[in-house]
Amino acid sequence: MEKASVAGNGAGTLLGSQEQLKPGTAQQAAVPNAGLGMGTPALVPGRVVEGEVVSGDSMGRILRREGMAASAADELIRALSGSLDLGKIRPGQTFTLRFAPNGELLEFEFQVTKVRRVRARRGPDGKLIAEKLEASTELRQEPLGGEIEGSLYESLQRAGEDTSLVSFFVDVFAYDLNFYVDTHPGDTYRMIVEKEYLEGEFIGYGNVLAAEYAGKAGTHRAFWWQAPGGETGKYYSESGQSVEKTFLKTPLKFARVSSGFNPKRMHPVLHVQKGHWGTDYAAPPGTPIWSAAPGRITYRGRRGGAGNCVIVKHENNLQTIYMHMQGFKRGQKVGTRVRAKDVIGYVGSTGLATGPHLHFAIKKNGHYIDPQKMKMARGAGVAKKHMKRFHVDTAKRVALLGDITADKAIPNPFVVRLGS
Ligand SMILES: [Zn+2]
Repeated sequence: MEKASVAGNGAGTLLGSQEQLKPGTAQQAAVPNAGLGMGTPALVPGRVVEGEVVSGDSMGRILRREGMAASAADELIRALSGSLDLGKIRPGQTFTLRFAPNGELLEFEFQVTKVRRVRARRGPDGKLIAEKLEASTELRQEPLGGEIEGSLYESLQRAGEDTSLVSFFVDVFAYDLNFYVDTHPGDTYRMIVEKEYLEGEFIGYGNVLAAEYAGKAGTHRAFWWQAPGGETGKYYSESGQSVEKTFLKTPLKFARVSSGFNPKRMHPVLHVQKGHWGTDYAAPPGTPIWSAAPGRITYRGRRGGAGNCVIVKHENNLQTIYMHMQGFKRGQKVGTRVRAKDVIGYVGSTGLATGPHLHFAIKKNGHYIDPQKMKMARGAGVAKKHMKRFHVDTAKRVALLGDITADKAIPNPFVVRLGS
């Protein structure tokens, strides 16, 4: 796709930001055929290049590909350090390069997210100066409701919502509902969700402020509320009880139980009766794994057939063990304190594993127990002295939640198909 432009027009041609970019190709706004051949594109005076980061790219590689000399690329990279983490550029991010007629770089702009950009421009002294730019967004509170029809993923899609909302929903009820077995057709959900907009365009979800799930497993409600002086908001029931339990029912989202606790099971790789002392959750590789409860990491490394393994020690002589991880969460080590739901690693198939899954085990007083049968204690509720305020703050949301109609039939979002 050629862009209309005039070569050597001095200022270069700014392309409209609405232009569609083909992944992996830089769009040359220059004289036709200039620089579009194999190898290094020729520098065309006054040209503008719009491009996209592709897999395996580094900033140096991108700039070489766009025909910049090593010294010019170094100058830009030096200017960007401090404003742009060059180690974290990802495929799909876009950039624009604008050159002067003499081939000198005038401006570089890198779109970090839809909201964040980094721009390097020449100052009055001719030096490149980088700055971070952030677009202002609007946060709206929106009601949402539906009925479960069969299975929840396509459901939210059908309701016109991004399926990433499923994870928010699962998060809210991770402590009360086992979403593999507790969701049924005819169940309803209602929620009030923060949605972030950039110039009218939806760009992502904020917090789920209130949520309700009603079905065979009972009616569960959760309200996001931050106690005065509290570090962050937490989820509470209408009466101010914590909906967060000290042990998560499942230490990851989007998974299915592929093998339960069974002391007599034949080992699928070794083919001997070895017993299965935990629960296997099949999940896509890279799925984040949470610590099931607050505690301290006591093991983190390779461990024979367990592959990459993390062990967390908790109160009451409990330990949780997580196996076959693809990798560990950066920045943690043996001795690191973790909270419930802190990511500790990612699903993989290291060690003796037939496919990507998390083997999750719990030891009580040194003996394996069935994670599915764990009795869970609730987290701390709203403090008595804050109860009045809590009720005032949540009353409005309780009323709003009650007004949401759940008449849109949607499939069950909790049933996630794997490997397809
Ligand atoms: Zn297992």
